[in-house]
Amino acid sequence: MTDGTTLLFGLPGVEVERVERLADGTRVVHAVTAQEAAAACPSCGVVSTSVKARVTTSPRDIPYGQDRIVLRWNKTRWRCREDYCGRSSFTESIPQVPARARTTGRLRTQIGAAIGDAARSVAEVAAAHGVSWPTAHRAFITHAEVELTEPKPTRVLGIDETRRGKPRWERCTETGRWVRVDPWDTGFVDVAGSQGLLGQREGRTGAAIIDWLRERTPQFRDVIEFVWPSTPPRCTPRRSARQACFPTRRSWSITSTSSSSATTR
Ligand SMILES: [Zn+2]
Repeated sequence: MTDGTTLLFGLPGVEVERVERLADGTRVVHAVTAQEAAAACPSCGVVSTSVKARVTTSPRDIPYGQDRIVLRWNKTRWRCREDYCGRSSFTESIPQVPARARTTGRLRTQIGAAIGDAARSVAEVAAAHGVSWPTAHRAFITHAEVELTEPKPTRVLGIDETRRGKPRWERCTETGRWVRVDPWDTGFVDVAGSQGLLGQREGRTGAAIIDWLRERTPQFRDVIEFVWPSTPPRCTPRRSARQACFPTRRSWSITSTSSSSATTR
């Protein structure tokens, strides 16, 4: 295939061999690895020349034009011949598609930006890009971690629980018993200032709050005077977080910015 096709496809680390159109109109891009570093053993770093097998994977990629394309990446499984290395073989990977990744980096970037910057819902973006909800959510978390910097201290910390997805039943792999999974996230917001969302944690437990607070600086924790809202639906996580992170305080004032009355918990 011409260099122009590889150039047009534009996925760093691979070279397009050919493009075919299936009977249903799907365009399939057959690509091979075009990065010498991909043959370097991830354990010892020595570049291998001993082929063990050829494998093909289909990481999901961004659409081209109106329709989606299917990427078939033909890559090599190499043997590592170094005596001191504990790894016997490894499959090629490139920065755009690391080991075990089922999507390209540029697709994950696009999904993360669609959710984080364009404020589209995770479910809608997942459907639009043909990936599962957890995959889209992970892309968003990665995007947010790059965008979010260490928050500045705030006098009033908002703690807000948000349900993500419907409750479902799952069988525990250890006990074999069915358990109800009720997915929630805890968000931390700057209520006194203009920083907006400061961070987010999976779950709505005291541990989720404690973990997040402990990752902040002592100065950040010292500045907090109030926690909002004044009538949280569940106070126990906040109370256990206060006891864990502010052991010298007898109360952690919980107040409302719209009212001067403060309630202590
Ligand atoms: Zn090795």
